[in-house]
Amino acid sequence: MRDGAVHVRVADRHLAHPHQRRGGRAMSAESYERLLPEIVPANRPYWDGLAENELRLQSCDACGEYRFPDSEVCPRCLSGSFSWREVSGKGRLWSWIRMHQRYFSEFDEVRPYLVAYIKLDEGPAVISTLVEAPEELALDLPVRAVFQPGFSERTILKFAVEHPEAAK
Ligand SMILES: [Zn+2]
Repeated sequence: MRDGAVHVRVADRHLAHPHQRRGGRAMSAESYERLLPEIVPANRPYWDGLAENELRLQSCDACGEYRFPDSEVCPRCLSGSFSWREVSGKGRLWSWIRMHQRYFSEFDEVRPYLVAYIKLDEGPAVISTLVEAPEELALDLPVRAVFQPGFSERTILKFAVEHPEAAK
């Protein structure tokens, strides 16, 4: 473990090119936005949904399968017919990692950060993060979608641990 920590520090120095430095401020919406996928007609319903605090996924008109990210055909039955539908936003923590390594300078101010793999109740998995993540995480922890506006023009999908008392 100690060796791993040293390795991270060395790698940091190696990657810290001057042009990647953005000062000691919190991660800005502008720098974060550069990491977001471009909004195109194919994914616009997803982003429009988030802006209205709804998680919308493509659902196959032929077999009903939900899918994410967006694609032209159903990965299950290859039908090209689909509808965008609101889903519950509920899911379970399928896997996670705390990122200490520096892959994106945009995330410098929030390292280490949590990358969470969420398996939605409707089937698809999404990669996101948890807000107010507890120190102790567990597989299959129930989570629900939360919608964070303010990333330039966008609302971002994150997840929060579902507390039994709050779910009532
Ligand atoms: Zn299908």
